[in-house]
Amino acid sequence: MNQEIWSCYLESLRNQIKPGFRVYLEGMTCRNMDAAHWEIALPDRSSLAFVESQLGSTMKSVLQSTLKRFEIAGNADITFTLSGSETFMRNGVLPLRTNVVKLNDVSSYEERRASFSTLPASTSAFHYNDDYSEDNDTIDPFETAGELREMSHLNNRYTFDNFIVGGSNECAICAAKAVATKPADAYNPLFIYGGVGLGKTHLIHAIGNELLDTLSLRVRYMTSEEFTNECIQCMSVGPQKMNEFRVKMRDELDVLLLDDIQFIANKERTQEEFFNTFNYLMSNHKQIVLTSDRPPQELRDIDDRMRSRFCINGWFDIQLPDFETRLAIIHSKASVEGIFLPRDVEQYIATKVATNVRELEGCIKRIKNAAAAHGESISLSLAQRLIDPFYQKPQVLLNVEAIISCVCTYFGISRDELMSACRKKEISYPRKVAMYLARTHTSLSLPAIGSAFERDHTTVMSAVRGIKKDLENDSELQLNVKMIEKKLFDR
Ligand code: ADP
Ligand code: MG
Repeated sequence: MNQEIWSCYLESLRNQIKPGFRVYLEGMTCRNMDAAHWEIALPDRSSLAFVESQLGSTMKSVLQSTLKRFEIAGNADITFTLSGSETFMRNGVLPLRTNVVKLNDVSSYEERRASFSTLPASTSAFHYNDDYSEDNDTIDPFETAGELREMSHLNNRYTFDNFIVGGSNECAICAAKAVATKPADAYNPLFIYGGVGLGKTHLIHAIGNELLDTLSLRVRYMTSEEFTNECIQCMSVGPQKMNEFRVKMRDELDVLLLDDIQFIANKERTQEEFFNTFNYLMSNHKQIVLTSDRPPQELRDIDDRMRSRFCINGWFDIQLPDFETRLAIIHSKASVEGIFLPRDVEQYIATKVATNVRELEGCIKRIKNAAAAHGESISLSLAQRLIDPFYQKPQVLLNVEAIISCVCTYFGISRDELMSACRKKEISYPRKVAMYLARTHTSLSLPAIGSAFERDHTTVMSAVRGIKKDLENDSELQLNVKMIEKKLFDR
């Protein structure tokens, strides 16, 4: 009978919730069912947090209608608990009841956060006593919101709200938001890469802030340099210290945000430690987010096993923002600085400074400070005076099409030939040169260049590698590349 009610309940629920949320139903089990009370278990903390906060009220009303259908009287309530290994968290003796989140108690954010506070303090996990009794009040309360924030090392200035979205970063943002809504699901690990000053650090903090504020998860942000330093320091002190480090990095967090992973290359022991941490977190369904200045397959001196795990599903790049996006960023940053920039000044900066967002911010600050220091109003001439000396040469931003057309003209072949599958040297050689130039003179990622050439990014990668290598000794190739570059830049 109970099985029948449960199946019927799931079926009704399936019709009531968005298709994207149905995945939760598969991991959900009913532990206890009576007329007054159902206990529903979720396989991990992030599902638990999501289900109770997003689906809780629907689940409760579907429960009432299901009970009515089976002519069961009463007003049954639901409690949510964890099932599976996470129930026995950290030291394996977590009393089950402490994971229970009461549906009635979780209507507001404060209460939801408080419901997490019934979880034991991870730091005190090793001092637990085994008492499962209901009135066990020896368990320390879980970290308060303030403590969670402190241990997260997050910068709360970096949020999704103040991150400007444009064509250059929209895929990365979508993925970041997916992770921030439902961690350890679609993209794990999430790998974000891109050039300097383009917003990787901002985005990784935004994910952390969202997870901390909405799901009260234990988030930890660190740069890979910090990871390395801490790891080396603990190693040098001894095994006990190293154990503490492991507990901290593995058991005392739900989400690890590691910025600038490229710095971990070359450091063998740290890499080994990170690889083990990474595997541990992944197998415990904890979210990992990594950033890097290059795509995973271009990370040199990184263990192959690790590189291939980074490439599993979610790697996204952030590119240089286009003119419109730069304008929007300038506008928003100026208002954060509390200044108003006339339209011509905004346009001037967006045209002149096409390197990265950090430099845009620098220019705005420079203008603000100079205007304040001289009591001058902000004008185009003031902006020019301050910015021109730093950006003497107008920056030539090439696009792939310009490169393709220049290469075709230079080698005397048609665009169709260059784009074709022809493997003859007189066609494949210019094609490889064009790919190399696109990689060198645009900020596009390998996949983006690949799609411009209607090819896979691995083809671009091997073409670029090949040309780079040949350039070392092949003087004819050196001359060709130089001549094409001259034509491209002198246009
Ligand atoms: P990265 O880590 O890629 O080197 P950061 O995240 O440190 O870059 O970004 C540099 C600065 O530019 C930060 O102050 C960040 O807030 C800002 N920034 C970058 N991209 C954006 C964007 N799309 N919208 C708003 N601010 C941005
Ligand atoms: Mg950064």
